[in-house]
Amino acid sequence: MNARGPLGEGEAVIFYDRKERECLKRLERGKKISIRGGTIAVEEIIGQEEGFIVRSSMSEPFLVLRPTLAQLIPNLPRQAQVIYPKDIGTILIWADIFPGAKVVEAGVGPGALTVALLRAIGPQGHLCSYEIREDFAKLARDNISHYYGPASHWTLKVEDITLHLEETEVDRILLDLPEPWHIIERAWSALRPGGILLSYLPTIIQVKNLVDALREHNGFACIEIMESLMRYWHIKGLSVRPQHRMVAHTGFITVARRVTRGDKIFPST
Ligand code: SAH
Repeated sequence: MNARGPLGEGEAVIFYDRKERECLKRLERGKKISIRGGTIAVEEIIGQEEGFIVRSSMSEPFLVLRPTLAQLIPNLPRQAQVIYPKDIGTILIWADIFPGAKVVEAGVGPGALTVALLRAIGPQGHLCSYEIREDFAKLARDNISHYYGPASHWTLKVEDITLHLEETEVDRILLDLPEPWHIIERAWSALRPGGILLSYLPTIIQVKNLVDALREHNGFACIEIMESLMRYWHIKGLSVRPQHRMVAHTGFITVARRVTRGDKIFPST
């Protein structure tokens, strides 16, 4: 990812057809890409600059570009649900992910958030990802190696984070699993003072459980709960309006800061 210059072997590319439909493929030398009833030889693409137009064996034109992260995520091979790009954008800012950060995440699923985190912390940072299921961990490993590349700043642990969270002096912990309240005590011990815990949950009942448990624990403050609604627009001639369809609900984001346990200054928190 992040490559510049001519398209190279092993890279992922997005093909756009005439109707602007997207199709993600990898450039594997010697292979033919099957697309919309035709084929394209990978050798016709390797060595070209992004933004050129290739024709398939059916003479259909396709625009070829490297995918952005927002395009890559919905196209990642997966068994579990990925976090939507609009939420990943919000998560990166509200969890305050920075270059060099020491980050822990669970679970990994297909690794959409993992790719975004690896990119945001950079090679000076470190990401430790927990995934309870071996089959999901394997898919995540493949996705990272195919769509991110070598990641020496990444450790993947096939373990239940509820039982095994062992890191210390962690800057940020991100949880995308159903019962984050079981991890509060371990997260508090793992986080450095001032560190951030972020949880992504699909239902507000889960959010309520988490917030109650955080307040009872007494070691977290500045709790914020949010969701992100994104509406695309259609602009063609005089037809200038929001798109008719929109994704109405994905997940709620809860963030909290790790503080000294004990005294409180906010009456309701
Ligand atoms: N954040 C991912 C999607 C995660 S889906 C992405 O952006 O692509 C939720 C994952 O959490 C599943 O793969 C599930 O196996 C894993 N999981 C659930 N409970 C867990 C636990 N206690 N420890 C580690 N992983 C867990």
